[in-house]
Amino acid sequence: MVKKRKILIPEPKSRFIRVRCKKCGNEQVIFDHATIPVKCLVCGAQLTKPTGGKAQIIEENAEVLKILG
Ligand SMILES: [Zn+2]
Repeated sequence: MVKKRKILIPEPKSRFIRVRCKKCGNEQVIFDHATIPVKCLVCGAQLTKPTGGKAQIIEENAEVLKILG
């Protein structure tokens, strides 16, 4: 086990997140720094909203399944 430290290894600035649309069950990969709202490709529900650099998951509509990379 690696000891937990206060100083973290610098993270990559951006990554991709696999999310599932709660409205229709569609899974898609979204960019974590999307600067425009990301919508479900199937039903059009808005999955994230941009918050000045980082996309925020709209929990009502989307569930994070996995953070990639
Ligand atoms: Zn959907």
